[in-house]
Amino acid sequence: MKYELQTIPVWKAFEADAECALCFLEQESEQRNVTFFLGNSIMTPEIRVKLNERGFCRRHFHLLLAGEGKLGYSLALSTHLETIGKRLEKMERRIARAGRSTGKVVDSVVDELRSHESDCLMCERIRFNVLNFTYTVAKLFLDQTEFADALRASKGFCLSHLPGVLEMGAEVIPAKRQSEWNAMIFEIESRSIGQIRRHLEEFTWQFDYQTDKKTPPHARDAVQRAVERLAGYGSR
Ligand SMILES: [Zn+2]
Ligand SMILES: [Zn+2]
Repeated sequence: MKYELQTIPVWKAFEADAECALCFLEQESEQRNVTFFLGNSIMTPEIRVKLNERGFCRRHFHLLLAGEGKLGYSLALSTHLETIGKRLEKMERRIARAGRSTGKVVDSVVDELRSHESDCLMCERIRFNVLNFTYTVAKLFLDQTEFADALRASKGFCLSHLPGVLEMGAEVIPAKRQSEWNAMIFEIESRSIGQIRRHLEEFTWQFDYQTDKKTPPHARDAVQRAVERLAGYGSR
């Protein structure tokens, strides 16, 4: 696959010192996509055709609902529902034709409905962006000492983005620097997990009446950061 370099946003994400730089970028990409799908682009024939067929996942239907501007969205929802209506009619006919032995047909209808639910145009666009950002991280590590230093000093990646980072490393980093790259990534992860565990402990001090220790300011959001470390910021 051919990737695009996204140097400026990636540098910005590392300067922001996020719990996970890819989560930071993913969140930005999601916000841009919400604006995109609620703007005029939703009316263009190319997007309309795709939307009629595919729609969004649960999270993204609701994010769009919470956004500004409903005209384009209402039209898109209407034509998408028309497609869904036709699809359901076909399913109903398939089940009716099966007579008494409906088991297998219902199974295939259920599979079709489930795969439709996970087929999201916005997730697809965000995944593509995140792939390019991950590629950029690996390339900048190779090309800019300054960036390699910033990466080494960063909090690294959440458990949701870590597999993609390792996978990209295996694809992009030349063999002679593979072990350096992998050792660095695991070293960052282990340091960050150690730090967040210390902050979680400091967080609990405020509930412990037997200690004089006070929760320091840097530990106040420790629970949120621990969840972000384990599960990303809340998108997919
Ligand atoms: Zn992440
Ligand atoms: Zn989605």
